[in-house]
Amino acid sequence: MQHRYQIVQPEWIVTVNSDFEVLRGFAVLIEDNLIHSLVPNDEIAELDCYAQAEIIPLPNCALLPGLVNSHTHASMSLFRGMADDLPLMEWLTDHIWPAESNWVCPEFTVDGFRLAAAEMIRSGTTCLSDMYYFPGEMAACAQQIGIRSVVGLIVLDFPSVWAQDATEYLHKALAVHDQIRELPLVSSAFAPHAPYTISDEPLRQIAMYSNELDIPVHMHVHETAAEVAEAQQKTGQRPLQRLDQLNLLNSNLIAVHMTELDEFEIERVAEAGVNVAHCPESNLKLGSGICPVASLLELGVNVCLGTDGAASNNDLDLLGEMRTAAMLAKGSSGNARACDARQAIEMATINGARALGMADLIGSIESGKRADLIAVDLSDLNTQPLYDPVAQIVYAAASRQVSHVWIDGTAQLKDFEFCHLDTNEIIAKAASWAQKIRS
Ligand SMILES: [Zn+2]
Repeated sequence: MQHRYQIVQPEWIVTVNSDFEVLRGFAVLIEDNLIHSLVPNDEIAELDCYAQAEIIPLPNCALLPGLVNSHTHASMSLFRGMADDLPLMEWLTDHIWPAESNWVCPEFTVDGFRLAAAEMIRSGTTCLSDMYYFPGEMAACAQQIGIRSVVGLIVLDFPSVWAQDATEYLHKALAVHDQIRELPLVSSAFAPHAPYTISDEPLRQIAMYSNELDIPVHMHVHETAAEVAEAQQKTGQRPLQRLDQLNLLNSNLIAVHMTELDEFEIERVAEAGVNVAHCPESNLKLGSGICPVASLLELGVNVCLGTDGAASNNDLDLLGEMRTAAMLAKGSSGNARACDARQAIEMATINGARALGMADLIGSIESGKRADLIAVDLSDLNTQPLYDPVAQIVYAAASRQVSHVWIDGTAQLKDFEFCHLDTNEIIAKAASWAQKIRS
């Protein structure tokens, strides 16, 4: 078989390896969909593949592993700006859930997903973990676009456009898990919506299946203080305690939000190896609370980053989310050292990969991993002069400075332009949905 070689020559390589090495004077050799090796620039011409390789010089650019958005509802981009400045439960029950029951269908899911995927690729995200209806259609769309995705197999107690009761949700979840097995860029996770929308028995089954199939459980947990207080009133237990009794607290769990945690719970989460998906902008916008990231990181908890859906953020810009996460951790802990620039990048890359069970495939620039890479052009006014590329990326760069994106070795963005996606068509479809929804 004929191999395809690309040699990417950035100014800096932010490897995000275990020593967090930042290299200068090196190139990345991509063989097909893999990072073959990191090669000193003065040795490139000696490579056997040199004559047939595509050489991609990236002066002024930092090359990073592609960003991993650990929690989103991509298709909800079509609801962006529809209901704002409201607290979580009012936003959900008066606006989002009714709109979903009126409008969500396979076509909505796919058109919304394409809009979100384009926005994410444009801003440097190469892998996303989603939770929404019609995951099978979403998976096919993700594979067709070429964006690495973990689709959530949604489970609820109550009827929706996707299923009528927990039994049907679970049945469909397992069917989709099987159906998408052959798609190389897509995998699945159970996605029970939240402790307050799903009862014990389906959660017990999810714990069992997740263990058996070794796939993640992706769930909103302790999003607000009100959620925890209400559960205590109804059941006498805090939701995390209930999930613990149902065998869900382990390294397969991606607990999203976690704004309400006491000291005992932080220790328990650390001990059980639970992953925490922190969504600072969604939490801030909905006034939901603040995840104690500094304390979680201190105890070694794997904290990753998510944007949540665009209807509560309102963008899917993970580079911006990194900065918000770093600022918020410092501001809320009163410690300027909390969540430093390196930790912020780890949260958006290798920690996300780890939470999704994909740390051997993506999340850092190392030989043998998939070539999911992004370049950030640091030559703009706002990132000059340049003492430290890592600090510039987290504290000063804007997502418009993402110049190149590769996913699984395929270029998706080159010199700031999409290689495959037609943005005019995507924008026209979004506008036509908005017209229907508004009328
Ligand atoms: Zn969410």
